[in-house]
Amino acid sequence: MSDTKPLSAKEKIAKLRAVFLSQLPDRAAQARALFGQLKGDPGNHAAAAELHRCFHGIKGTGRSFGFRQLGEAAAPGEDLAAILTDASVSPPNDWQEQFAVCLTQLDVAVAAACTANDDREDPDMSLAASSAPATSGGRRVYICDDEPLTLEQLSTQLACFGYETVTFTEPQALHDAVLARRPDAVIMDINFPQGSNAGTEALARLQAETGHSIPTIFLSARNDFAARLASVQAGSNAYFHKPAHAMDLVATLDELTRQQQPEPFRILVIDDEPEIAAYHSIILQEAGMTTYQLTDPARVLDVLKEFRPDMVLMDMYMPQCNGHDLAKLIRQIPDHVGLPIVFLSSETDSKKQYSAMRIGAEGFLTKPVVPENLVAAVAIRAERMRTLRSLMARDSLTGLFNHTTTTQLLDNAVSNAKRNGGTLCFAMIDIDHFKLVNDTHGHPVGDQVILALSRVLQQRLRNSDFVGRYGGEEFAVILQDISQERAAALLDELRQDFSRVLFHSDNGEFFCTFSVGIAEYPARRDMETLRAMADKALYEAKRSGRNRVVVDSTTKDQP
Ligand code: GH3
Ligand code: MG
Ligand code: MG
Repeated sequence: MSDTKPLSAKEKIAKLRAVFLSQLPDRAAQARALFGQLKGDPGNHAAAAELHRCFHGIKGTGRSFGFRQLGEAAAPGEDLAAILTDASVSPPNDWQEQFAVCLTQLDVAVAAACTANDDREDPDMSLAASSAPATSGGRRVYICDDEPLTLEQLSTQLACFGYETVTFTEPQALHDAVLARRPDAVIMDINFPQGSNAGTEALARLQAETGHSIPTIFLSARNDFAARLASVQAGSNAYFHKPAHAMDLVATLDELTRQQQPEPFRILVIDDEPEIAAYHSIILQEAGMTTYQLTDPARVLDVLKEFRPDMVLMDMYMPQCNGHDLAKLIRQIPDHVGLPIVFLSSETDSKKQYSAMRIGAEGFLTKPVVPENLVAAVAIRAERMRTLRSLMARDSLTGLFNHTTTTQLLDNAVSNAKRNGGTLCFAMIDIDHFKLVNDTHGHPVGDQVILALSRVLQQRLRNSDFVGRYGGEEFAVILQDISQERAAALLDELRQDFSRVLFHSDNGEFFCTFSVGIAEYPARRDMETLRAMADKALYEAKRSGRNRVVVDSTTKDQP
């Protein structure tokens, strides 16, 4: 039986290093052969460029794999070859002698690298490893308050947003429950009959016992400095002055218990040397990123389209086309104008680095790069790209996908379902009598209702479902691989939950409802028909009394 244990990053790098070492004598021989060509024909700039790349590659890759002396030995040859590639500069008279010395130096270093292992230094991978938290299960909230009415109201309201709540009237009971089973968050009163700071004291004790790790919100009738300070010192994350609205608490809870792991950054690594592309990829993968290694620049257009990277890490010198031209080529495509590009090269000439930056590269890292620095440089730029993309794709009030993006997602989902023989449901949701909400309670309160609905939808649907804000008070949901009946049952549950959310305004408390229309693929075969039929079903839901879910197949006059 074969050993299927996956290789560690260190082992993978050791393998790459071994490959590099095994090819090293051939590379040195190639340098010697190119030098032979140049001796016969000093004007052969192509051979000079090839020789430059040869030295450059040995230097950069060698250094990255920890062969410092090899890097140093290759550097003079690289510089000299660079002079020979430039027709406007005349080489020194003794260039042939100088080259011979460079080649001898190289041979010595190559032999040393291949025989002894003490020339290399292992890169420190430990700092590059990600500290991604493990995914947690349900969203369980413990609420502790000595007023049973507050407990019941909060518990009911939070349940509408998908929180599982457990209530306690005494800090000691909460304390024991937390130790028995960790909640995702705690909501806690400060004043208890046991003492005016019993809440903060209990939390401080808990944080000490569990290592300061429980997201906590304090809820208190007090609004004074001392109470707030005690809350902060006890390690709380938020403080609400009673009466707190469930909506505001939910917003904070959502932040504190955010479960959805952000999708890993997608990094395209372009380097003509497979080992070095793999080496940098491993470092980024260790930090939790997804990478694609491209060694043939000619494939870049297809790869950009398929892989959709958040950032490109690019070598400067490659045969066929250099990094400078490749970056420019990418920049000339409207879809990739904003895509961050960082050069990673052993080029230390600051003038050349500067010229790379001028064509719009976001940065320049010099090989060998410290893994920690590479991860930081990549993460910060990829993150910025993510934010930018998300600003363009999402609605600013709710953070849901906007109309354009939702339409694109539906289009993609239909194509996928066609390709894979899957099913999908498209649901349109519209808040009932929303104009009346605005007229009675004001536009800002209307916005709160929209926000609440967006939270209910986002919290309760699966990660594979898409939720968009389709228009003002209209939402669209794409549910994949689900029957119309199951989708209807699911949305009906959300409808009931939402109808129990209590809203507040200066003009009093109120409830809201929504109506839903659902259409299904493959019963409806294309995006336009799906939308039209979901809309028709929604209209039917409104016409027949609102606050209900209607499925396409039950509406009359089907085309
Ligand atoms: P129906 O039950 O038939 O859907 O009635 P309705 O009042 O909800 O429908 P109508 O389409 O007549 O009114 C929708 C209202 O939604 C009108 C518009 O002012 C309001 N609206 C649209 N976008 C927003 C928004 O972003 N915030 C707020 N507060 N109101 C909005
Ligand atoms: Mg409407
Ligand atoms: Mg409406």
